[in-house]
Amino acid sequence: MSKYQHIQEAAYEANMQLPKLGLVIFTFGNVSAVDRALGVFAIKPSGVPYDELSPAKMVIVDFDGSTVEGNLRPSSDTKTHAVLYKHWQKIGGISHTHSTYATAWAQSQRAIPIFGTTHADHNTVDIPCAPPMSDKMIQGDYEYETGFQIMNCLQEKGLSYEELEMILVGNHAPFTWGKTAEKAVYNSAVLESIAQMAILTEQINPQAGRLKDSLVKKHFERKHGPDSYYGQ
Ligand SMILES: [Zn+2]
Repeated sequence: MSKYQHIQEAAYEANMQLPKLGLVIFTFGNVSAVDRALGVFAIKPSGVPYDELSPAKMVIVDFDGSTVEGNLRPSSDTKTHAVLYKHWQKIGGISHTHSTYATAWAQSQRAIPIFGTTHADHNTVDIPCAPPMSDKMIQGDYEYETGFQIMNCLQEKGLSYEELEMILVGNHAPFTWGKTAEKAVYNSAVLESIAQMAILTEQINPQAGRLKDSLVKKHFERKHGPDSYYGQ
């Protein structure tokens, strides 16, 4: 039995949720699960269809993006995951999809405005869209630099990765994360739903305004923080 089996299973289960939730087609998307003590994460192999995946096919990679165990090549986005794990000590999983609505916002290079309480249940701010990457970053170590583009965007906006677990990368697509791989995928699905609601809101009423602060606060605090009372 591999000492990495627990993260291989977690990564496998989380990856298999992406097509089930309608967040990916074909071989799009990738999820990883980390083991901090071992200093490695398990990630989907590159270009393998979902119905051919198994826990044993998840590739074990270190925080520099080098394969530690596995015969398959890891996801082409592996270095983005590695950079985020290296710098964000408290995340346990990362998910990347090209889900339609969130990607449409990314391609439009727009943050998703906080229009309603569904958004506020999860986040208190607009979902930021990192600027498209510079030619230098694209021509350099592209996937590695994508990780820095994400971190720099949050830093410039004064946002913490522990509070906001989702971002759009301009011209590309969303990345989400969380304490576990399962939570990262949950965040991918939440983001897609928020993105879809936001575009419909703008279509129905192009002048629709942002949710007022009192409702943002009320909804976020119902679910999070010391006085939360949502759920059992
Ligand atoms: Zn991508």
